[in-house]
Amino acid sequence: MKITVWNEFRHEQSDVKVATLYPHGIHGAIAEPLRAIGHEVRTATLDEQEHGLTKEILAETDVLIWWGHQAHDIVEDRIVERVVERVLAGMGLIVLHSGHFSKVFKRLMGTSCDLKWREDGEMERLWVVDPSHPIVAGIESPIELKHEEMYGEFFDIPTPDEVVLISWFQGGEVFRSGITYRRGLGKIFYFRPGHETYPTYHDKTVQKILSNAVQWAAPADVPALKFGHSAPLERG
Ligand code: ZN
Repeated sequence: MKITVWNEFRHEQSDVKVATLYPHGIHGAIAEPLRAIGHEVRTATLDEQEHGLTKEILAETDVLIWWGHQAHDIVEDRIVERVVERVLAGMGLIVLHSGHFSKVFKRLMGTSCDLKWREDGEMERLWVVDPSHPIVAGIESPIELKHEEMYGEFFDIPTPDEVVLISWFQGGEVFRSGITYRRGLGKIFYFRPGHETYPTYHDKTVQKILSNAVQWAAPADVPALKFGHSAPLERG
């Protein structure tokens, strides 16, 4: 499978703590275990030309993974449209953590995608609420992440097609942290954990969920679709 991992790659360049945690960038940490299981993975970042998401690159991407936070507004609208178009045409999309506020995700959801948050390093416990879902194949519930940022409900999203994981935080909040949507021919998975100052993407269970998600989001084999006026197949 051909995967593109997109990261805005800003925190790693301005925050020593993040750079130490992710010396090859968050994109590098996400890409590496996917490469290790045989996927063809490229990375793309905000400061590359066309944010590293040229038409050619997107055309040959089966699944795009998106991490963004402080620079959502800098992502060019024409690139956002390009990504959205590819999702509608069947490319899989996995949106991580603060990507809930990315232009791409908001555009595909049509709602504010706002939520509550608190950066206190609380424990996050993720409960599998759809045990037979392929995204949690082989995953033991609950998953515990010792330190994470809190995201709390209400999460202003359209009702998901599926809720696969629900998080509980030490402070008492809960959150729909693993959810799926279909838009056009594309499959979308939003996965909550992954604040930049915690080692979340080094966690083996998180890596396993991402590799399952990539598999789940793979484009279907769809013959060319026909729209518009259509002659009847039978006459009289
Ligand atoms: Zn965060």
